[in-house]
Amino acid sequence: MSETELPSLTIADVQRSVTAELDRIGPVIDELGALFAEAGHELALVGGPVRDAMLGRQHNDLDFTTSARPDDTERILKKWGDGTWDMGRDFGTIGCRKGPWQVEVTTYRSETYDPASRNPDVSFGDSLAGDLVRRDFTVNAMAVRLPGREVVDLYGGVVDLATRVIRTPGTPESSFSDDPLRMMRAARFAAQLGFDVAPEVVAAMTEMADRIAIISAERVRDELVKLVTAPYPRKGLTLLVDTGLAERVLPELPALQLERDEHHRHKDVYEHTLTVLEQTMDLEKRLPGGGPDFVARFAALMHDVGKPRTRRFVDDGTVTFHHHDVVGAKLTRKRMQALKFSNADIDAVAHLVELHLRFHGYGSGEWTDSAVRRYVRDAGDQLDRLHLLTRADCTTRNRRKAERLWRTYDALEERIDRLAADEELAALRPALDGNQIMAILDLPPGRQVGEAYRFLMELRLDEGPLSEEDAEARLREWWASR
Ligand code: ATP
Ligand code: MG
Repeated sequence: MSETELPSLTIADVQRSVTAELDRIGPVIDELGALFAEAGHELALVGGPVRDAMLGRQHNDLDFTTSARPDDTERILKKWGDGTWDMGRDFGTIGCRKGPWQVEVTTYRSETYDPASRNPDVSFGDSLAGDLVRRDFTVNAMAVRLPGREVVDLYGGVVDLATRVIRTPGTPESSFSDDPLRMMRAARFAAQLGFDVAPEVVAAMTEMADRIAIISAERVRDELVKLVTAPYPRKGLTLLVDTGLAERVLPELPALQLERDEHHRHKDVYEHTLTVLEQTMDLEKRLPGGGPDFVARFAALMHDVGKPRTRRFVDDGTVTFHHHDVVGAKLTRKRMQALKFSNADIDAVAHLVELHLRFHGYGSGEWTDSAVRRYVRDAGDQLDRLHLLTRADCTTRNRRKAERLWRTYDALEERIDRLAADEELAALRPALDGNQIMAILDLPPGRQVGEAYRFLMELRLDEGPLSEEDAEARLREWWASR
């Protein structure tokens, strides 16, 4: 997937898309709008669903904002939906499901920030405008008032959406100083939407990158995961690196920008890494769960992070990175721990980083069965992703070299399948062994025991596994019919 510039939309395109999507979700939004109005409250569709409606994307998860307080919201939603739940009453959000629709209704907020922790200190607000001004980006700060379907766009969100730009409603400095996580969110939305981030926003991110330190690791991690699993991760990652944010949240990535001296030529590891990530994305459909797959993508991003530390210049003008797989796995583990990833994710990604060179260790000769078995055993439950990573790690411009690697890897995957099938067959046994057969039929060792065994083996192959009781019954039946 290459960095293709998305064409801008016209305002007419945006209007057409939003009208079509509002018609599709009309039954839900009109009904809810009428219910809130009857009770004397304002209601508006807001944020992600409005933005995505304008981009022509459909949503069954709908976010609303309202003048009603949470208890009133809950009362109205209980009458309307199949069930409500509390998303965080203190933050004003009540969730509700009705058929295929999932809605979240949040009371207008006007946040003030605790300057020490920067955790939003929520207080409820009184107007839609007051709620919109505290939102992160203009394209996220639009609303559709209900039941009339009036589009509210106070900060030029429609124009920014049409020209595909991420911009803050107020100055980026005051926005990021209120909540530095928004700097990560800018990169995340760039990656999700394929939008550019406005130059003044990039400048503020660069200036204020240090402030990300006061945000909890968990919140940074959640944005990073959304960025990496988005359609345009290169866009978000490049922004993190260029603004210096990556230096604070994922320093192993900018560290891949090794200075390249003229005598010791080697690939640009940073650029290679971004390409491996994109090639991994192209291969994701091969995974049992399809894509996007965070573990596979993050392993691609981290696979060479051991290189800067292990680089050695050799006299003959070459460069080596001995054990960068092992060192990289350790660095990956440490970084993911700092970002509070689950142990399962840490183990999976670190394991892939550690194994990413294994395939090459076997040289070009035919692998022995034992080597294939060990490869499979060592990869364990990461085998499918290791196939992806190994293939994606080939970024040579030499077509013949690339094709040779692919063919060799195809052959390895075939070997793995064949061996697995053979060994499953070899491991097949009937439900009863010779001793049991002799006991059941009261036979001495001899030819008849062998015949009975073969009968049970045929049964196993024809019908799959049988319980011992069933096998005994069938054996007696067969014996009696002889
Ligand atoms: P998705 O749910 O697919 O990740 P989204 O656009 O719904 O995308 P959320 O993170 O769910 O994004 O946020 C919902 C809305 O709340 C955003 O559109 C934005 O208007 C607002 N918002 C969320 N987090 C912040 C924040 N830290 N600062 C300001 N506004 C925010
Ligand atoms: Mg959301």
